[in-house]
Formats: sequence, structure tokens, C-alpha cells
Amino acid sequence: MQKKDIDWSKLGFGYTPTDYRFEAHWKDGKWDEGKMITDSNIELSEAACVFHYAQCCFEGLKAYTTVNGDIVTFRPDLNAERMMGSAERLEMPAFPKEKFIQAVKDVVAANAAWVPPYGTGATLYIRPVMIGSGPQIGVAPAHEFIFRIFVMPVGAYFKGAIKPLKLTVPEFDRAAPRGTGHIKAGLNYAMSLHPTMEAHRHGYAENIYLDPATRTYIEETGGANLIFVDKEGTIIVPKSDSILPSVTRRSLIDVAKRLGYKVVERPVKLNELKDMAEGALCGTAAVLAPIGMVNTPDGDIYFPSGMEKMGPICTKLRETLTGIQMGEIEGPEGWVVKIDAE
Ligand SMILES: *Cc1c(COP(=O)(O)O)cnc(C)c1O
Repeated sequence: MQKKDIDWSKLGFGYTPTDYRFEAHWKDGKWDEGKMITDSNIELSEAACVFHYAQCCFEGLKAYTTVNGDIVTFRPDLNAERMMGSAERLEMPAFPKEKFIQAVKDVVAANAAWVPPYGTGATLYIRPVMIGSGPQIGVAPAHEFIFRIFVMPVGAYFKGAIKPLKLTVPEFDRAAPRGTGHIKAGLNYAMSLHPTMEAHRHGYAENIYLDPATRTYIEETGGANLIFVDKEGTIIVPKSDSILPSVTRRSLIDVAKRLGYKVVERPVKLNELKDMAEGALCGTAAVLAPIGMVNTPDGDIYFPSGMEKMGPICTKLRETLTGIQMGEIEGPEGWVVKIDAE
């Protein structure tokens, strides 16, 4: 297979239409078989439910080329399960887990020429998305849905990926108590667009949202979970019902335990940040991105790990996780799923 003529190491995190996408339709109470198509556009009724009532959920995962040239993906079963949960909360029909995993494999295989080669730092980002496509003007779930998976080659999410980020604590909330913060709904991102732009306008890369009920506990950023390392070297992971269950975070916790670190998952107060030695954002897009400082209402907090590089424990975790994804380190059974591509 001839790879596309792309300068892989110069890629940013953005959309590029590739050759094939998978699409399935829900109509008359059931999913059709779905098929691979080439058209990157979707034609919809002006009354499609997604346009008015935001009936939409999505996923994000990646495919990698390993050190020995295989194309693999990482824990797609967890994305499949999470999307089923998102769909249920939004009154959308779940897309079956085994079909989801097969469709991911098929789309990646069909676009094998777009999977960045090993060692370029780039990966293939996979975006499953489901929308209420049927016309709906009375407020109710749609009667028709589209499930689509498309892919694109991407580079680092944050420019200068390993350079520590500056974050701020916004006056806005991302999710309501008992709301939809724990599912991957497009509407959560609509809520965070304004605070994100405000953060950028003030020179910060992202926001740390607080728990909306009491505004004392740390939740996550707009699109990534948070982990911290305290001064004893214990990994501290914020816990809350309105945090999105990140596959990266769950995998890092496992990796950390295997490496012999102590991991504590518990509610973390904003005023504990000053006691931390390291902090990082974690998610598929960013993998693990270091936090250098946090602007809070009580002043700026600089982590001892500094503004030049990622702290030592986060570095170890990042290297181990990416090593597993790139086939350099043996991971737990079932994490790395090989894709047969010619
Ligand atoms: C997708 C997402 C994450 C990261 O989850 P991963 O499964 O690790 O990619 C974190 N927070 C939010 C709000 C998200 O939507």
C-alpha cells in the first residue's frame, strides 16, 4: 500500500477528509447494515433534530503504526461502551458494541494509506459521531439517526506538546450537577466554547472547571481529564459524577499501578493545587500534556515541575502509555487491537 504524500511530522490537529467513511442509518426502529462511502458531506433536512435540539454524541480514538509496522487501535471496546451510554442518556439508539469495533477496524483499513508511519509523532484520529437526523420541530427525540465514523491524520493537539501549559479557573461551569458532564455529548462542548475562547483571549491554553454545585472541587478541562502528582509521589485523580470517563485516564491509572505508583481517586479541592508537584491533562487527543501553572481566584499557582518540561512521574506515565500504543512495550491483554490492512 502506497502511503499518501504528506509531511507527517508537520501535521497539526485538524480536519482532513480522507478517502472512506462508514455510515449506518437508523430508520423504522432499527439500524441498517451500514456501508463504506466516499462522500464526506451529509445532506440533512433543515428540521433535523441535531440542528435544533443538539441530539448528538461522539467519540474519539486513534490508530497507530507500531514499531514493527502493524496498524493498531487502542481499547475501542471502551469507546463503543461509552458511546452506548451517551446515546442512552440522549434518547438515541445505541450502536451495538461489536458492530462499532468492526466499523472502526474497517474504516481504518480502508484508509490505511492515511495512517501516519511509525516514528513521525502523528497518528490517525478516528471520529465516530451519531446525530438525530430526522426532522423534529416538536421537542422530542428524532425518529431517524445517522452513525458515521471518519478518520484523519493528526499531529499534536497542543502546539509544542510537551511544553507546560498555563490554565485558568473560569467563572463558568461546563456541566450541571446530575446533568450530562459524564457523557460525550456535543452540547457539553457548546457550553465550553465561550469559556475556552475567554481563556485563550487571556493567554491560557484551557480552563479547569470546578464542580458546579459547590465550586470547590476540581473537575476537568473542556476536553481532557486531569491528573496530579502530590509531593510524596502519589498520583491523585479527581473523582466526580460529572467528569467524562476518559479512556486515557483509566489506562494511565492502570499503567501507574503496574509501575508501582500509589494512585488515589478522590474529590480534589481547588485549594489543594498548591500541594501538588506535577499536573497534566489527559485525553486521546492530547495524550498527557503537562500543566505549568494555574491562574486561580486566589492567585497563580506554579507547579514545582516548572514551565520548561513535564514532571518526571508524568513523563514516565506518558512514555509507558505511548510505548504500549506504539507496540514498544507489552500492554495488558486486549488493549492494543490489530487491524488487518493490505
Ligand atoms: C473525550 C473527552 C475526554 C478524554 O477522553 P479520552 O477517552 O481519554 O479521549 C475528557 N474530557 C471530555 C469532556 C471529553 O469529551
